[in-house]
Amino acid sequence: MKVEFYGHVRQYQNIKTEIDANINKVLMSGKYVMGPMLDQFEKELAAYTGMKYAIGVGNGTDALWLTMMALGIGPGDEVITHPNTFFATAEAAWVVGATVVFVDCDPKTKCIDPKLIAAAITPRTKAILPVHLYGQCADMPAIWKIAEKHKLHVIEDNAQGIDADGGAFKQGDRSAAVCTSFIIQKNLGCFGDGGAIYTNCPEINAKVRKLRNHGSDKRDHHSFGFNSRLDDLQAGVLSAKLKHLRSYSDARIKWAARYTAGLKGVKAITLPTVVPGYRHVFHLYVVETKNPAKRDAMVKFLVDNGVDAKTHYSIAIHKQEGYPWGKQARIAGSVANAEYNAAACVSLPMFPELTAEEVDYTIAKVLEWDKANA
Ligand SMILES: *Cc1c(COP(=O)(O)O)cnc(C)c1O
Repeated sequence: MKVEFYGHVRQYQNIKTEIDANINKVLMSGKYVMGPMLDQFEKELAAYTGMKYAIGVGNGTDALWLTMMALGIGPGDEVITHPNTFFATAEAAWVVGATVVFVDCDPKTKCIDPKLIAAAITPRTKAILPVHLYGQCADMPAIWKIAEKHKLHVIEDNAQGIDADGGAFKQGDRSAAVCTSFIIQKNLGCFGDGGAIYTNCPEINAKVRKLRNHGSDKRDHHSFGFNSRLDDLQAGVLSAKLKHLRSYSDARIKWAARYTAGLKGVKAITLPTVVPGYRHVFHLYVVETKNPAKRDAMVKFLVDNGVDAKTHYSIAIHKQEGYPWGKQARIAGSVANAEYNAAACVSLPMFPELTAEEVDYTIAKVLEWDKANA
């Protein structure tokens, strides 16, 4: 049996008529950039997230740095995050010339450990950049408390966690903005690149709207800006998919529960932790090998047996070639948990359109590996 890691084509086939209808509507409108479909999708996304404003941009990385730029974050300023995330989280801060300060992740959730943030704050700190890693919200109440005490902005990197919440809190409640990505493999994915910022702050909304469009909100009038817009065709795809997002997340949660039940006896690997009360939407189902030295062998075993396992992310950001040691980055304290996560992580196939047979086959292969390596 072959188990793919993503189900993009299955998803398209299931709602082809809805997607095709929106694409056709955009094509026949003749308005492909900053047209009515973008406007419609932005309104739908704002309503869905419960935020006042949603702004479509070119991709998730741009969403992050456009927000930082709108907040006036730049050279000399520090942004606190953790190093076991996708490179773009830190890259976005580097784009605006800010310095990234890394603290460790929580050993269980893999999201930023709020207990370590206070000690990393300096007079230059401007923002905390938590990531809802793998689809589970960071400990936002603790992060907001620190941010409010030290008067820091909170920018949530929600590229992996759209539709997740903390039960008692929702994303963005007390943050400057939430930034998300719509690249195809994300939980709400378009047919190319896309991203969005949602916020309750009218100043951020107004600034980002201009920055993404050559500094213009009025024909022929410009200030400093860029070109980072969400195309209307992509907005049409996203508008069609947004109506299904809740059920897509529910399917991910169902497959994650099936993995966790099927794998509960394992000895050589650790299963993901869901914080009680949180809605973890499982962008990724990531297990860890208790012996990181065996991780690559586990991935190879699964791939050799037809299960397209991957790693997210096997090289922590501070270990990347080209990491700007010195001026634009520093590590505050130990980041041993993040390094362990990088060394031990194995992602199992996860997408809403998986079948029970595929999940059960994957479970059987993981159990086989576990038994041989316990
Ligand atoms: C995907 C991702 C991004 C970047 O999104 P792009 O749309 O690819 O620019 C940023 N942060 C995290 C955590 C991501 O997973």
